[in-house]
Amino acid sequence: MQIKLFDKTRWRLAAWYAGVMAVILAICGFSVYQVMIQAYLVSIDRELESVTGTLHNVIEPSLKQPAKIEPIIELILPNLCLANSDCPNSNHSKYQKFLHREHGMFSSVYQDKQYYIRFVDISDKLIAVAGFNPQELPQAFNSKTWQTLKDPQGNRYSQKSILLYTQSNQNWGYIQVGRSLKELDNRIFSFKIFFVIALPIGVILVGGSSWWLAGLAMQPIDKSYKQMQQFTSDASHELRTPLAAINATVETILDLEYLSEQEARETLRLIKRQNNRLAELVQDLLLLSRFDQKTQVVQKESCCLNDLINDLLEEFSDLANNTDLQLTSSLEYSQPLHVLGDEDQILRLFSNLIANAIQYTPAGGYVNVTLKRNNDDAVVEVRDTGIGIPSEEFPRIFDRFYRVDSNRSRSTGGSGLGLAIAKAIAQANGGSIEVQSQLSKGSTFIVRLPVFSAE
Ligand code: ADP
Repeated sequence: MQIKLFDKTRWRLAAWYAGVMAVILAICGFSVYQVMIQAYLVSIDRELESVTGTLHNVIEPSLKQPAKIEPIIELILPNLCLANSDCPNSNHSKYQKFLHREHGMFSSVYQDKQYYIRFVDISDKLIAVAGFNPQELPQAFNSKTWQTLKDPQGNRYSQKSILLYTQSNQNWGYIQVGRSLKELDNRIFSFKIFFVIALPIGVILVGGSSWWLAGLAMQPIDKSYKQMQQFTSDASHELRTPLAAINATVETILDLEYLSEQEARETLRLIKRQNNRLAELVQDLLLLSRFDQKTQVVQKESCCLNDLINDLLEEFSDLANNTDLQLTSSLEYSQPLHVLGDEDQILRLFSNLIANAIQYTPAGGYVNVTLKRNNDDAVVEVRDTGIGIPSEEFPRIFDRFYRVDSNRSRSTGGSGLGLAIAKAIAQANGGSIEVQSQLSKGSTFIVRLPVFSAE
């Protein structure tokens, strides 16, 4: 069920990523395409404008009669063909010869770039043509300055027309300079082909990486989901044990025909013990959940660690004696060390560590609590010569309900929440906790809390 849900979410995430990326790619590609085409068009128009302007400036001063081709025009446009004469087209060998003539002032323009130059009189009649001569262009005359024409093969031409005047300021006719847009159209075609091929490939690649990224993004959620499941199952298990014990006790008593007062008291005591265990467990769970949600109140006050440790040692001395352990402290820092934190919580933190140290150290061993200062930190070390913890367990030791040896821990009444609570308290009070241990040699739990000085 969970795997199905995660797979579905992963697919969805990947699809969304891929979709959004495809749209972004398409928009970017289209914008680049537009900008490039536009830039190319502008450069073509400028070129056309400059050629037309130069021709106009060179030709116009020598025009005497309307529609009359002056010698200067033939001089600067060597392949000029008058209308009604045998005007060569671009494939004509005679025309090719013209094209390769170097002496024309504008020959390079219409040789390489497929320019044509047309002269039209004011009654729209073609007078002469020079340069590349697209025969099949629409002949209908149009005096619009800028035009884009298309021949029957679909080839496009950009054309500029200017009205020319004679020396006596009469309308001579028009000069029209056109340029083939074949090169541009080829580019547009290549762009389109590129997009048609590149876009799906891009989307496939993005889809693949999205699937991988979605997997990465899901990992912490997956992990925390598994932890939550583990936690729920552990918590139910822990709660079930005392509940089952209470249930069994009650059922046994109910089966009895007669119950003496002493037996009744003993039973009630048993039930109370299990009940206390349940209540403690629930309280611990609530405490951890409040730490998680950051709703646990942390009363920040100045706490003297020296006093706190001495109190704890006194409190645990009987337990240590009973288990034949030596419980000692060494307060290396001569001055009292204060930290700013919740005294009850800090007491609980060290109490958990000392209780563990006593619990997991066999008779005849030592438990020592050290207090020292390291720069701005007060460092408390709870060291024992107990059973130790394998190093591979270090990362999980502070997890809820985690026990290295669950049978041993459970038999001594441990719930597996002590270190989780210790860590949560240390962090809530601005500190940290770490473990160092060697199997069969002992463990040291090191707590660091920021020192508080009255200044
Ligand atoms: P528990 O209630 O089981 O003691 P804790 O969270 O306090 O739970 O500790 C988790 C586990 O860490 C314990 O079950 C035990 O295996 C291991 N542990 C904790 N403290 C010590 C220690 N001083 N020496 C050896 N093992 C320890």
